[in-house]
Amino acid sequence: MPGDALNRDLSSIVPGGVYSRSEPNYVSALRLDNRAILHAPDFVVRPRSRGDIAGLIDYCRTQEVAFTVRCGGHSPNGYSLNSEGVVIDLRAIHEIRIDKDVCHVGAGAIWADVYNRIRTQDEGHAVIGGVWPGVGVAGYLMGGGYGFLSRSHGMACDQIVSADLVTSNGRQLRVGEHSACAQERELFWALKGGGGGNFCVVTGFSILLHQAAPRMFAARIAFDFERFEEVLSFYDDWVDTLPDKMTVYGAILAQPDPRHPGETFLALRLTAVYNGDYSEGLAQIMPLLAHSPLTTQVYSLPLTDLVSFLSSSNPDGDFGVYVRSVMLKRGRLSQAAPILRKHVERIPKDAVFVVWTHAAGAINRFDARTAAFPHRDVEYAFAVKAFWPVDYPELLQPAVIWAYRFFEDLGRVGTGAYVNYIDPLLTGWREKYYRASWSRLVRVQERWDPGNLFRFQQGISSQFEPDHPDEDDLDLNSLFRTFAT
Ligand SMILES: Cc1cc2nc3c(=O)[nH]c(=O)nc-3n(C[C@H](O)[C@H](O)[C@H](O)COP(=O)(O)OP(=O)(O)OC[C@H]3O[C@@H](n4cnc5c(N)ncnc54)[C@H](O)[C@@H]3O)c2cc1C
Repeated sequence: MPGDALNRDLSSIVPGGVYSRSEPNYVSALRLDNRAILHAPDFVVRPRSRGDIAGLIDYCRTQEVAFTVRCGGHSPNGYSLNSEGVVIDLRAIHEIRIDKDVCHVGAGAIWADVYNRIRTQDEGHAVIGGVWPGVGVAGYLMGGGYGFLSRSHGMACDQIVSADLVTSNGRQLRVGEHSACAQERELFWALKGGGGGNFCVVTGFSILLHQAAPRMFAARIAFDFERFEEVLSFYDDWVDTLPDKMTVYGAILAQPDPRHPGETFLALRLTAVYNGDYSEGLAQIMPLLAHSPLTTQVYSLPLTDLVSFLSSSNPDGDFGVYVRSVMLKRGRLSQAAPILRKHVERIPKDAVFVVWTHAAGAINRFDARTAAFPHRDVEYAFAVKAFWPVDYPELLQPAVIWAYRFFEDLGRVGTGAYVNYIDPLLTGWREKYYRASWSRLVRVQERWDPGNLFRFQQGISSQFEPDHPDEDDLDLNSLFRTFAT
């Protein structure tokens, strides 16, 4: 359709909310966490209500206009944007209301908005939300959502009470566990882990809040990577003895070296967060402190402050990033250790970050009957994040190939991958992301989106599968496109 006609039609649905290439609101919608992704959609549209969204979906369906939906823009390879289609940018729909122990949040909000609202209105409650405050509520929730309190209460998607949405035929609906219609209950199930960009546009979520200590104990404890195997072997047994209120994330990264000011050292860093009293939390980590870490920092802060503070190791700037994940079951860390050492020793210096989420606890007390998120038997969710400054595009290929090979090896002892770290280079991605939930998700997609309106390269309806005849010659084009060719 010619651009002028499309502009006119979209503007009649969302007056004042349609932006073309020359406008600042267009440009700001294209800024993603991953700065290497540069898309040029024909138009960005900012709806202000569910009615606007219903109008847009009706229009795109009848006029066969390709579109994607954008929330926080943290999809690792920018699946919320596209080139030469329309982007429905939900960020104007970000209202937040707390009603006793339920938080109603517009699907365009980011976690920082939710934390700020809880901080000002209700310090006695906590939400299971992103460890990085800039992450969007919608994408995160629909992929599962690990947070510091997940071992206490489950995945973030397990806390969804209901979702407001617009279906592929433009119908406005609220779905929840108690929806009268079985197909609506199926859709609700799929929204809890089935991944963003599939099925429908979610416009708002109601999520359960939990009682929380006003201040929580947290600690950052770093060891020299030279002692990796010794500390990891202790860690693997030790975390198994911890209560669900304690979570201990891990990371391998460069951090300031207290022995040589101005320099960095490669650290195995453990971050403990205790959902309770400071003294109880401190007592829990004493066995770890007995292993003589190089640096130890302890904190007592409200969860909302801890999140911003502890997420500060993610580089935030003009970096491209390639992210890949592997889920590990309990007992697999000893098999993973030599793989981690081998690849970490070949790290492109300071440009990499291996991080793992400590899972299990309450997460594994939910199952595939209640939510599509399938990884209820794993202890650790590993991710590698390989960064490069976008001004040095020649660093892209070595960074991606290094991370790819690393997690191919790690994947051999793993049990799948995390859809929120969606990765176009991952072979067998359907089975790895969704495991036993896959066939049921396909049925939900067929039922709720028969015209395949919600499609993208790794969407539920996609036939795309990467083909890597040779690890040295990966086809990197799939990292930079939204729709499969
Ligand atoms: C720096 C960083 C830190 C992270 N930290 C965590 C963490 O602590 N825990 C964790 O579990 N994950 C984490 N993630 C992963 C994150 O949860 C996913 O990348 C998530 O999908 C991002 O959601 P978003 O809304 O920001 O992204 P977007 O790119 O806006 O959306 C992601 C996908 O969802 C679709 N989508 C967005 N909104 C809607 C909607 N309303 N309806 C339908 N589809 C929609 C988009 O089209 C896209 O396909 C992190 C990622 C990054 C980059």
